[in-house]
Amino acid sequence: MNNNSSLSHRKEEPENGILYIVGTPIGNLNDISQRALNILKNVSYVACEDTRQTRKIMNNFNISNKLISFNKHNSSIKIPKIIKDLKEEKSIAIVSDAGMPGICDPGEDIARSLKLEGMDLICVPGPCAAITALVTSGLPSSSFVFEGFLPKKKIDREKILLEISKNAKTTIIYESPKRLKKLLKELFEFCGGEREIMIARELTKKFEEHVGNNIYEVLEFFRDKNIIGEITIIVKGIKERDLIPNKLVIKKDLKDLISSGLTLSAASKYLSKKNGLKKSEVYNLI
Ligand code: SAM
Repeated sequence: MNNNSSLSHRKEEPENGILYIVGTPIGNLNDISQRALNILKNVSYVACEDTRQTRKIMNNFNISNKLISFNKHNSSIKIPKIIKDLKEEKSIAIVSDAGMPGICDPGEDIARSLKLEGMDLICVPGPCAAITALVTSGLPSSSFVFEGFLPKKKIDREKILLEISKNAKTTIIYESPKRLKKLLKELFEFCGGEREIMIARELTKKFEEHVGNNIYEVLEFFRDKNIIGEITIIVKGIKERDLIPNKLVIKKDLKDLISSGLTLSAASKYLSKKNGLKKSEVYNLI
């Protein structure tokens, strides 16, 4: 590898024996970089999540390089083949359907395998929905937690939701439009309705939309809507001063919830989850 190439503006050619992790657009095809196009055109072949999807991008830029399929179902067979080809001095690009490979997409395992083999890999950075949503949210963005898709299993999911409710850092979540309302209800239960949130829908595309302010308002906004498109969620961290549960505040919340119609048991359950306490600790406040 040429160590002086990092600040170069020339259209460098792919080097033999190198795997290139190439970022591709998350919607707007004009977001592809010159460097990405050059690598996709000139590597020995492109390993991609879905050959039809990548062929569309390549056709758009008049690139007709060889494509092979590389996804979570065939990666255990394809990784050794790619490593063998790299050792035989081929240059290879890996792309996912959209955005950065390795971010909730194939790419993570092959990067790990190459590192374990002591081999070089280079990233040609491109758009990533998580970062695009984060920087447009107006929420603290220099220190954050990326959760990707939350686990489906209830016990694992509730553990992460509790972590999010107590985390002082901004959290980024990916979710399908079909499950957004369920997730918003869970966030309401764990973080409370006043927590700041932004829903970024269809980033970089024609119908891009940013919906915020707090969880309550966002739930109301989507209540009667049929949600479509791709969604990234940004949740503000809890304020430091709210991190230690204040028993007087919890007691007041408990009384408010009971007077608005919840049973003592249901109100205690909600507040125990919200504050990371045992249900009995909340129950016994009254
Ligand atoms: N590797 C991709 C990246 O770098 O962002 C993420 C792939 S993951 C399988 C797909 C998820 O990313 C979607 O379900 C959605 O949560 C998010 N996403 C992708 N494109 C998006 C867009 N244009 N607007 C909002 N969210 C998007």
